[in-house]
Amino acid sequence: MTLSLVAHRDKIGLTDGLLLIDGKWRPAGDGAIWTHHHPATGEAIATVPVAGESDVDEAVKAARRAFDEGSWPTARAQTRIQVLLKYASLLREHAEELRNLQALDNGVPIMFSTNIYAGSVEVAADIFTHHAGWVDKLGGQTLPPYQGGDHLAMTYREPIGVVAAILPWNAPFMLFAQKLGPALAAGCTVVLKPSEFASFAVLRMVELLSEAGLPDGVVNVVTGPGNPTGEALITHPLVDKISFTGSRTVGKRIVEASAGTLKRVSLELGGKSPTLVFPDAPDIGMAAMTTVGTVTMGLSGQACVAHTRALVHRDVYDQFLGAAQMMAGAVNYGDPFELSTTASALINGRQLDRVLGFIERGRESGARLVCGGERADGDLAAGNFVQPTIFADVDNSMEIAREEVFGPVLTVIPFTDEDEAVRIANDTDYGLGAGLYTTDARRAFRLARRLRAGTVGINGFQVEPHLPFGGFKQSGLGREGGQSSFEAYTELKTVLMPLGDELM
Ligand code: NAD
Repeated sequence: MTLSLVAHRDKIGLTDGLLLIDGKWRPAGDGAIWTHHHPATGEAIATVPVAGESDVDEAVKAARRAFDEGSWPTARAQTRIQVLLKYASLLREHAEELRNLQALDNGVPIMFSTNIYAGSVEVAADIFTHHAGWVDKLGGQTLPPYQGGDHLAMTYREPIGVVAAILPWNAPFMLFAQKLGPALAAGCTVVLKPSEFASFAVLRMVELLSEAGLPDGVVNVVTGPGNPTGEALITHPLVDKISFTGSRTVGKRIVEASAGTLKRVSLELGGKSPTLVFPDAPDIGMAAMTTVGTVTMGLSGQACVAHTRALVHRDVYDQFLGAAQMMAGAVNYGDPFELSTTASALINGRQLDRVLGFIERGRESGARLVCGGERADGDLAAGNFVQPTIFADVDNSMEIAREEVFGPVLTVIPFTDEDEAVRIANDTDYGLGAGLYTTDARRAFRLARRLRAGTVGINGFQVEPHLPFGGFKQSGLGREGGQSSFEAYTELKTVLMPLGDELM
């Protein structure tokens, strides 16, 4: 039977989305809408407004007023802490509802959003809880006078101002929290733009903010695609900071657009992360399953930090490939609300064509196709499903080893010794994550230092709310998570005062 999600939508009671500007929910000024088509079925699910230039202008001005004249940036620490903690509890209470909405958005299976921490509502709640803890720790330094004399010099941190927070579609729970948690804890105000491909869960998360007691105007939401909505936001002169997670192409456009008023910019972009597997790995089968898991489970490889290049020592190469193929065979596509479904469809037709194009050119370039390589058919034919695909004997110069495919495609590259492995691993424009499997502790730490990536996992990989996460090279600018991301929503101010009658 052909898959359909309309009954789920009707049971959940999803209605069309609205913009939130200064505490009021409303459609776009010109009535423009975006219709969301579900990636697993192609069905029209619901609409969101397409915020135009004047809607975005109103949203930014509302955030500006809330920052310049409102209570949030200067609120008592306890007020901000209580709002953030209450919000974290509300997220936990509404976890099931949010998971269902996300399944209607980007099609991430309930099995994944329930059981995998990085994809859960729990991680979002934990991130807000973590940042609530920073509210009363916005510290600076008191410094002795450099040139002697009697005066005081100190630094302190202030909220950075109005933040444009732009989300991708693939991990809205965690990324919403990674931006709004530190921004709100620091006392900033926000204009949020969810992805046009995953707006519904985010809109509900925003509704819960006012239930937690956040004043009107502190968080405003504009929905719609990159053009016109995103462009109007990133070029708006009253935005102080852009915090963006998404593709490298749009990241570069944001750097360009921010130059006009020298906005502060944080970028979390893509990756082509390597996993290095040595013969003394604790368990070769487990290393293969985890690596394939990152490019198939849940998001079907549409994850920034998926370990899409497996660099495998020649001594364990065949063993790794056998286990990897077995894991790829365990992927189960289907209705995201069924607990047996393990992975999602690709987000849209454009991405489907892109991934199939990479696979085709991978074949032509001489890489050995071990499994997959085709679009799924039968009951799944109307969805954007691509079979889990493994290419072996890949050369790192091939396109499938260099470009972020953002689909269920693993490239496996053999190596002979440690130096060769490091050279191949670092031979990429990206630098988001890296993994390595070995029981030799000295090698593990030696390589952790040599690998040019923002996060290196030794015999495992996870995302944690209190750890910085971000990329070297073209994987981004800055870090999200923990103290470093909180500080990225502040400006550092130096204050000087002579204590005697002399001038400084
Ligand atoms: P995308 O860049 O197409 O879109 C991201 C967001 O930017 C969306 O909200 C989109 O509407 C908006 N946008 C598009 N054009 C814009 C413009 N000109 N101005 C302003 N906004 C614009 O990315 P995507 O397809 O949603 O997400 C996939 C990408 O995100 C991948 O490259 C992935 O690696 C990356 N990602 C990175 C991380 C990380 O933490 N490093 C996490 C998740 C996803």
